Amino acid sequence: MATRDELLAALGLTPVWRLRAAAQEDRASAPIVVADRAARIAALEWRDFAADVDACTECPLHRGRKKSVPGVGDPRAEWLFIGEGPGAEEDAKGEPFVGQAGRLLDNMLAALGLARGENVYIANCVKCRPPGNRTPEPAEIEACRPYLDRQLALIRPRLIVALGKSAATTLLNVDATIGSLRGRAHDFGGIPLVVTYHPAYLLRNLPDKAKAWEDLLLARRTLAAGDRVA
Ligand code: SF4
Repeated sequence: MATRDELLAALGLTPVWRLRAAAQEDRASAPIVVADRAARIAALEWRDFAADVDACTECPLHRGRKKSVPGVGDPRAEWLFIGEGPGAEEDAKGEPFVGQAGRLLDNMLAALGLARGENVYIANCVKCRPPGNRTPEPAEIEACRPYLDRQLALIRPRLIVALGKSAATTLLNVDATIGSLRGRAHDFGGIPLVVTYHPAYLLRNLPDKAKAWEDLLLARRTLAAGDRVA
């Protein structure tokens, strides 16, 4: 008598059967794999962090990157600046906010008496460049989130500045205009978060530089007051 496998093979169903079984196994194990990855990243120390990001293939953004862009700065910084994702120059250098936008950010930091790497850390929501500088997909941001969460846990900043709408709406998990999010300190897990414009936007909209300066002054006042939002 023919076995079940032989019957299925005769009907041309073996591959389908096996694929379905494999897919069911994959679905069952997926949450475990995701949890394993999150737990591994949550335990990373600084010495292993950049190499781990560099080896990451969790989302499609790894395919087009020249260099991953984990972040740069003082690992004990009080100020954490978070942008959306690396652009072409960041991708080439492996460092966030370089080029013209980066110089503007450095100038803004200098006006506050701060400098890149001194009490300041700069990171992005996604660590690899989205092709054509498009906005990262929600799934890509989600895939990269464990790295940002680990940076937050290691740095333990006293204040976060979200640079641009995409970073702000991602971090605050809201769908809102940047105008409606500016002008007050938001709560990011007990850390005050101030929203301002992305330096690349400011290069194209110079009059809004004054608003960005107001935002940074608000951020400085918030930090000086030691505000913790409820
Ligand atoms: Fe990994 Fe983040 Fe790069 Fe995606 S963007 S491949 S999750 S490091």
